[in-house]
Amino acid sequence: MTAKIIDGKAIAAEIREDVAAGVEELVKAGGPRPGLATVLVGENPASQTYVRMKHKACLEVGIESFGTELPADASQEQVEKVVSELNKDPKVHGILVQLPLPAGLDEESVLRAISIEKDVDGFHPINIGRLAQKGREPIFVPCTPAGCIVLLKKAGAPLEGSRAVIVGRSNIVGMPAALLLVKENATITICHSRTQDLPGVCREGDILIAAIGQPEMIRGDWIKPGAYVIDVGVNRVDDPTKKRGYRLVGDVAFDEAVEVAEAITPVPGGVGPMTIAGLLKNTLRSAQRADQ
Ligand code: NAP
Repeated sequence: MTAKIIDGKAIAAEIREDVAAGVEELVKAGGPRPGLATVLVGENPASQTYVRMKHKACLEVGIESFGTELPADASQEQVEKVVSELNKDPKVHGILVQLPLPAGLDEESVLRAISIEKDVDGFHPINIGRLAQKGREPIFVPCTPAGCIVLLKKAGAPLEGSRAVIVGRSNIVGMPAALLLVKENATITICHSRTQDLPGVCREGDILIAAIGQPEMIRGDWIKPGAYVIDVGVNRVDDPTKKRGYRLVGDVAFDEAVEVAEAITPVPGGVGPMTIAGLLKNTLRSAQRADQ
């Protein structure tokens, strides 16, 4: 059996097209042009790249973008003052503080300072809290885990009543992915570094989400035959055959998993493109809400 490859790049491109059409429609109807503000603290090269990619993606769909850069030694007050000004700016519908913040800054306090109406990353404690509560809905849902659910649905995974195993319990991926799957009526097991018999637990999953950050840790024989596998991991491994000296791999040993799973996301080209597409979608929705 060879798994169906879930093409996140193509699915994300469809979402971006829908967002571009939505932006045009909103502006034509006299509504505001959606605006996304990024806040980058320090000079982490990966964070700089992510922020650049987000600005480029905004431009492509007609969303205005604004960038604030602060030095690595910016104080808590300085960062929160920037956020507070963006909260008041009517041209800004989404605020994205690029994580991780430099050591010494209180991440939770900064995220809490973002207006929940503009929390397009979905990391505000109130949005996460609502995600965790029955009968409550967050205004925005974190983009990467939301992308995982979209990919599962597009692949035809039956979520309701399924056993879903999530490896990783981070605030940005594993935990919100688990909360979203509960809302989809799946039965969840959350694994982490202290889980015993991880291969055995993974094999119970009709759905397996890997958000670990360990290259190709999940082997083919950890996967239940016919499972739907979402690989969130993005890891660099040395590869002298590549010009840049490395290649990207996921947390799942793809070549083995593809022989066992019903469907699987590749790395790159799986979950990655869904994250930015989700951010654009949330920013448009925020502008639409502001227009109501
Ligand atoms: P993280 O905050 O480092 O969390 C990793 C999780 O994996 C933790 O819960 C950790 O357990 C668990 N873990 C680590 N080693 C393990 C092991 N040997 N066995 C079992 N569990 C283990 O990472 P993250 O931010 O969630 O990111 C996870 C991966 O996704 C990374 O590769 C990251 O680059 C990627 N990512 C991709 C996107 C995208 O857009 N595609 C977005 C975000 C992240 P403990 O809690 O016990 O420490």
